[in-house]
Amino acid sequence: MTANVTGEAKSSATGGEEWRGELRKRLKTAEELSRILKLTPEELLALRRGTRVPVALTPYYASLIRGSAPDYPLRRAVIPHCGELETSPEEVCDPLGEQQHTPIPDVVHTYSDRLLLLITARCAVYCRFCTRRRLFGRGARRGIDWWPRVLAYLRNHRQIREVILSGGDPLMLNDRLLQRLLRDLRSVPHVELLRLHTRIPAVLPSRVTPALAELLREHQPLWLIHHTVHPDELTPRFAAACSLLAERGIPMGNQTVLLKGINDEPQTMLQLMNGLVRLRVKPYYLHQCDLAPGTSHFRTSVESGIRLIRRMYGRTGSLAVPLFVVDPPGGGGKVPLMPDYVISRKDGVWQLTDHEGRPRVYCEKSSTSNLPDPPGAQ
Ligand SMILES: *Cc1c(COP(=O)(O)O)cnc(C)c1O
Repeated sequence: MTANVTGEAKSSATGGEEWRGELRKRLKTAEELSRILKLTPEELLALRRGTRVPVALTPYYASLIRGSAPDYPLRRAVIPHCGELETSPEEVCDPLGEQQHTPIPDVVHTYSDRLLLLITARCAVYCRFCTRRRLFGRGARRGIDWWPRVLAYLRNHRQIREVILSGGDPLMLNDRLLQRLLRDLRSVPHVELLRLHTRIPAVLPSRVTPALAELLREHQPLWLIHHTVHPDELTPRFAAACSLLAERGIPMGNQTVLLKGINDEPQTMLQLMNGLVRLRVKPYYLHQCDLAPGTSHFRTSVESGIRLIRRMYGRTGSLAVPLFVVDPPGGGGKVPLMPDYVISRKDGVWQLTDHEGRPRVYCEKSSTSNLPDPPGAQ
C-alpha cells in the first residue's frame, strides 16, 4: 500500500465514528484542564514549562479524574507534574536500546522471531511515564516508501513469526488503514501471529466498535494486549469493550507498569489483576518502570516489585499473576524476575519454600521408591 501510515489520515465519512469526535474534544492546555481539576502548583509548573511527552486527555478519561485529589492514581498517570522536568543520572533517552535494533525507522527487531512496529507516535491519552518519549517532538522521518520497506524486510526475514503493532497506539489509525495494514501483514506466509498493543480501550472505549472487533477477528490469530495501570480503569465502558472483543474471539492480555503511588500496593495490584481475569483478559507483563528521562518520581525498587509478585502468589489464582520483567538499558530485551523459592539444592535434593514460607523438600532421586505398591503386587 502507498498510503501514509502515520495515523494522520483524515477519515471523514467512515460512519459510527464517535471516537473521532472525542479525539477532537481532548483537553490539552492548563486552561482546559482547569475546568475539571484545581491544578496544583507542581502540575501548573509542568504545564507551563512544557514536557517531553505531549498532554492530552479524552473527555472519557477526564470524567474519571474530574474533581479528584492531587494524589488520585488516575490523575497522576495523565496530568504532568514538575517531577517530569528532572532527569536523574541513571535515566537514558532510549531506555530499551531500541535504536540499536532498528533496521528501518520505527521498526524494532530485538528478538529474531518477533518484529515490533511503532506504527504511529500518537496516542489518545499520553501517559506521564511513557517509555517511548524519544518518539515525540521529532520531525517526520518516514517516507512514503516506509510501509513497502517494512513488508520487504518482513518477506526477507523468514524467522519472523510474529508482528507486534505498537507505537504510540495502533488503534489511533482508522479502520480502513488498519484493515490494509493487517491484510498486508497477513499476505506474508511465514507471519503466524499478529499482536496489537493498545491503551485505547482503557482511555477511549468508544473506539472499540463492533466494526473494529469484526475487523480484528478477520485477521486471527490476533492477540490484543491492553495496557491498564489501576483498577479504577476497569469501568463498565472498558468492560463492555472487553466483552465485545472476547465475544468475537479475540484473545486478550494486559501489561501494566509498576508505578509508585499508583499501583504499588498489593491490594491495588490484586484488584487490578483479578478484575482483568474476570473480564477475560490474561495479565501478562508487569514492567519495572523503565529508565526514561523524567520518570524517577514513579519508579519503585526492583526488590519491591519481586516482593509484590511473591505476595500475589497464594493470594489469588496464578492466572491473575503477571510476569515481572525489567528491561535493562542496552537493548538485550526483557529479563523476567521471579521471587526465589529455592533455599538450597544438592545432589538432586531441593530445599524449597512455598508461598507461605513453609519449608518443602523435593527429591529428584531416592534410594527407595516412595510410590505405594501397585494394586495386586505382592
Ligand atoms: C517486548 C518486546 C517484544 C515482545 O516480547 P514478548 O516477550 O513476546 O512480549 C518484541 N520486541 C521488542 C523490541 C520488545 O520490546
